[in-house]
Amino acid sequence: MVRKTKQRDVILRVLLGTASHPTADWIYEQVRKELPHISLGTVYRNLNLLKLEGKILELDLADSLSRFDGYAREHYHFRCERCGHIFDVDEPADEEIDKRVARSTGFTVSCHRLEFRGLCWDCQPQGTAEGIANSPRNTMQVGSGGQS
Ligand SMILES: [Zn+2]
Ligand SMILES: [Zn+2]
Repeated sequence: MVRKTKQRDVILRVLLGTASHPTADWIYEQVRKELPHISLGTVYRNLNLLKLEGKILELDLADSLSRFDGYAREHYHFRCERCGHIFDVDEPADEEIDKRVARSTGFTVSCHRLEFRGLCWDCQPQGTAEGIANSPRNTMQVGSGGQS
């Protein structure tokens, strides 16, 4: 018998070990290498619990499959329109928008979702060696039009 907390630890470790914002199916495949008898339903259940505990995020983006994120702080994402990869965008979540919308609507706003779209480095036509050498690989610049 595998302890329940052990299952959850493995799932969380798998998720923290990747920046790829994987689907539950992908997580299931990885976790199975360590816990061969775990079921997909158990993985889903644990992902849900981790989400409720605030340890992970479920990305309900415009996508048929839910993806999961081990980086639990509110943050933005960039989705490549060609390869479909999802990247974290190093841009603080703008809480002012929440307040503004709350004021104008009278709703209680808990968060907002924002997804940037375009082409990642690898999918850009100029994604040659020279192009990559000149592009900001480490820190993703959003909104700034390149070098100032
Ligand atoms: Zn791409
Ligand atoms: Zn993320």
